[in-house]
Amino acid sequence: MDSIQRLQLLSEQMELEPAEETRAGHKAGSEPGTPPACITPKQQEAVFVHPAQLPNGQSIKLLKTLLTSACEQDCFYCPFRTGRDFRRATFKPAEFAGVFMELNRRGVAEGTFLSSGIAGGGIRTQDQLLDTADILRHKLSFRGYIHLKIMPGAEKAQVERAMQLADRVSVNLEAPNTNRLARLAPHKQFMDELLQPLRWVEEIRNSQPAYKGWNGRWPSSTTQFVVGGADESDLELLTTTAWLNKNVRLKRAYFSAFNPIIDTPLENKTATDPLREHRLYQASFLLRDYGFDLEDMPFTSEGFLPLHSDPKLAWAQLNLKDKPIEINRADRQTLMRVPGIGPKTAEAILRIRRVNAFKDTSSLQKVGIQVPRAAPYILINGRRAAQQLSLF
Ligand code: SF4
Repeated sequence: MDSIQRLQLLSEQMELEPAEETRAGHKAGSEPGTPPACITPKQQEAVFVHPAQLPNGQSIKLLKTLLTSACEQDCFYCPFRTGRDFRRATFKPAEFAGVFMELNRRGVAEGTFLSSGIAGGGIRTQDQLLDTADILRHKLSFRGYIHLKIMPGAEKAQVERAMQLADRVSVNLEAPNTNRLARLAPHKQFMDELLQPLRWVEEIRNSQPAYKGWNGRWPSSTTQFVVGGADESDLELLTTTAWLNKNVRLKRAYFSAFNPIIDTPLENKTATDPLREHRLYQASFLLRDYGFDLEDMPFTSEGFLPLHSDPKLAWAQLNLKDKPIEINRADRQTLMRVPGIGPKTAEAILRIRRVNAFKDTSSLQKVGIQVPRAAPYILINGRRAAQQLSLF
């Protein structure tokens, strides 16, 4: 097998792992190593490269891959679990670094998201990932984007080293708490092996100067949850997300709807509706960026978000429909509670109305507000905006 074929084998299931600010769709139950049919060698190389938007807004071609698809763990949902019969592949650190740099030189990949199956324990596997990043940075002078996965059981010194090499580090919590994790990955320790590294990341960011980080700044940190795999509620997932936002300054939680993989213990479990994943993202942004609290979320009595309506709209229906807010007087936080108004448009409203009060919906539209969404919940100079809209 040549290195490109190996890369394909290793990257096939990486679509299951959302990363950075965009995500590709799932290929439910697809087998690792199934080569895509009828594609040119050039396209073949691009198969494992995903369009991604970095936190600074820059769009790049991101090579998402594992260093090895061999794994000694037996997570119930995972295609790479030990004993599962499929063709596995492995790269040595220097080998992967060389292949990546060749793809980088040819313009196929601009950055990499590097994870791994666990072979020889979390510490040894983390060393392999660190060696790879170290070669890329210091032997091959790669200055582009690297996202490094922190392995379960990695040591604090390894986390610190990862933070000196990468632009982003992440730990997959997979489930929102110890009990739920036991139903997905019985041999992973939620508190000690998964949550602790995320705490270390924040501890290091707070206790050491940023110049020690890669490129003079500490990396951001993210996590991922498998949604629906452990029958957990949205309330459980968002409670943990809110805790992580507050206590370890998590940049983002990724939600990956559970999809059964054949020949795993959960192969007969029903796939999670992708709309649930979408609602969780919306709710997590409200918690992180819009000043919403968990108590504001329109959970059902079982702790789930309604699928038929986005959580901000559901909140507005309950709280703003009969008490619309005055667009010319509301503060930033209140403005961001209105559907169709986000952090940037709230700022624009504040800026513009210092000079001129808004008089009608068309002036709001010009600022970028989604007027049809916002109109039922706002007043413009004491008049219902929805009535203005109906004039058109
Ligand atoms: S440790 Fe990671 S690669 Fe291994 S079985 Fe679990 S989720 Fe899969």
